[in-house]
Amino acid sequence: MLDAFDNQRHEWFDAVAADGTEIDDDAGRVRLRCAACGHLLTSASQAVEIAGRLHHHATNPAGFSFRFQTFAAAPGCDVVGTAHAEHSWFPPARWQLAQCGACAVHCGWRFSAPAAGGFFALIEQCLVEDDES
Ligand SMILES: [Zn+2]
Repeated sequence: MLDAFDNQRHEWFDAVAADGTEIDDDAGRVRLRCAACGHLLTSASQAVEIAGRLHHHATNPAGFSFRFQTFAAAPGCDVVGTAHAEHSWFPPARWQLAQCGACAVHCGWRFSAPAAGGFFALIEQCLVEDDES
């Protein structure tokens, strides 16, 4: 996992740097909203491969399994709490909780590594697609 992550680091760092924090709202782009309240979280154009894939499946130490997608940015999410290195799914990146910026439901995590930027991992069941322009 570590080797794969290192191989991807520059790729996802470039994507984060290029995309900034603006949601590209062009017609036809799939937007992704909070399943609980409908708040706009990010868009499919922000999806970025981490460790060679967009879709991930992982289990935390408490035994909860999550299916999630990785995004360069998720401007509709609030990142809360301190960054933890323990039990990171993408070492050496540290993780923080990400929640909906409107209703505060837990919707994923933000991973970040020193001098390499970061990315969001958003739980698939917390996202609903909105392809209306
Ligand atoms: Zn919400």
